[in-house]
Amino acid sequence: MVEKIVIIGGGPAGLSAAIYASREGFEPLVIAGFAAGGQLLLTTVVENFPGFPEGIDGPEIIVKMREQAEKFGTRFVNENVTAVDFSSRPYRILVDEKTYEAETVIIATGADAMLIGLESEKKFMGRGVSSCATCDGPFYKGKSVIVVGGGDSAMEEALFLTRFASSVKLVHRRDSFRASKIMQEKVLHDPKISVIWNTAVDEIKGDRKVESVVLKDVNTGQKNELPIDGVFVAIGHKPNTEIFKGKLEMDAKGYLVTKNEVETGMEGVFVAGDVYDSYYRQAVTASAGGVKAALKVREYFANHQ
Ligand code: NAP
Repeated sequence: MVEKIVIIGGGPAGLSAAIYASREGFEPLVIAGFAAGGQLLLTTVVENFPGFPEGIDGPEIIVKMREQAEKFGTRFVNENVTAVDFSSRPYRILVDEKTYEAETVIIATGADAMLIGLESEKKFMGRGVSSCATCDGPFYKGKSVIVVGGGDSAMEEALFLTRFASSVKLVHRRDSFRASKIMQEKVLHDPKISVIWNTAVDEIKGDRKVESVVLKDVNTGQKNELPIDGVFVAIGHKPNTEIFKGKLEMDAKGYLVTKNEVETGMEGVFVAGDVYDSYYRQAVTASAGGVKAALKVREYFANHQ
C-alpha cells in the first residue's frame, strides 16, 4: 500500500500537520518515534500556548493534539525512522525491518536542546532545569538563576530572564564569549547579570527541585557550591536530521534548508517545525509550520490528480 502522506515526527509540528491533513480526508500515517511528543514532553506547565489561560502541561498538549488527529483518521506508529529513500517515487521510509511507501512526506523530526550531560540535569529537567527561557522564565519571578553558555542564545536568555529573576549569573566555560559583539555588550552592561568565566557546572543539587549548583573552575579544578533556584542550559540545539544527510539540503549545523518556508528541493517532500527553524523554536510556531506543510500537501494533490 502506498500512503498518501507520511508524517515523520510526533511533536506539535507533525501533529498539527496530521490534524489538518486528516480533516481533509488524507488519512495520514504519523511515524512518531519511540519518544513521541518531542521537546514538549520535557516541559511542565506551558503558559504561552494560546487557548489555555490557566496553562497546560506540555505532555497534555501532545495527548490532546494526538486525540484530535486520531479523531479525523490519522494513524500512528511509535517507531523510529532509520532511513529514507527519496531517489524514486513512491518515496520509501524505513522503520527497522519495515518499509513504508508514500506519495508525499512531511518531515517534522524537530531538534533537541543540547545538554551538559549530567545525570542531575536530566533528573531536574522541568523542576528547576530548563532549556527554554521564553517558556519558563516567568516562573522565576524574584528568584536567582544561572544561564549556561557563551553564544547568542545564552546572551538572549540571560537578558530575557532579567525581566523576572532577581539575579542572573552567566556561567561560561571559557574566558570569552562566542556571541555577537552587540549581544555581549548588552549582557556585560546589564546590572542584573554577572558573568562567571572559565567555569563548568559540575553538579545540580536539590531535593524535589533545584536548590544549588556545584561550579568548577576549569583551570584550577576548584569547586564551590552556589545556592540557586533555576538553571537555564543554553548551549545550542541539534536538529534531528541524521537520516536526511546527503538526501536533502542542510546548513552547516544540520538544519534543513527550505524555500517558501516548507518546501524542500524534493517534489512532494515538505518540512515543518524546529527541524528547519532554528530561530523561533516555539510549540506554536512549530504547529503553524505543520499547518502550512499540510496545506502545501493539499495543493500538491490538487495539482497532481
Ligand atoms: P552556539 O553559538 O553554538 O553557542 C553555544 C555556546 O555553548 C558556546 O559558547 C559554547 O562554548 C557553549 N557550549 C557548548 N557545549 C557546551 C557544554 N557541553 N558545556 C558548556 N558550554 C557549552 O549556539 P547558540 O547560542 O544556541 O546559537 C546558535 C545560532 O543561533 C548561532 O548562529 C547564533 O548566532 C544564532 N542565534 C542568534 C540570536 C540573535 O541574533 N538574536 C539569538 C540566538 C541564537 P564555546 O564558546 O566554548 O564553544
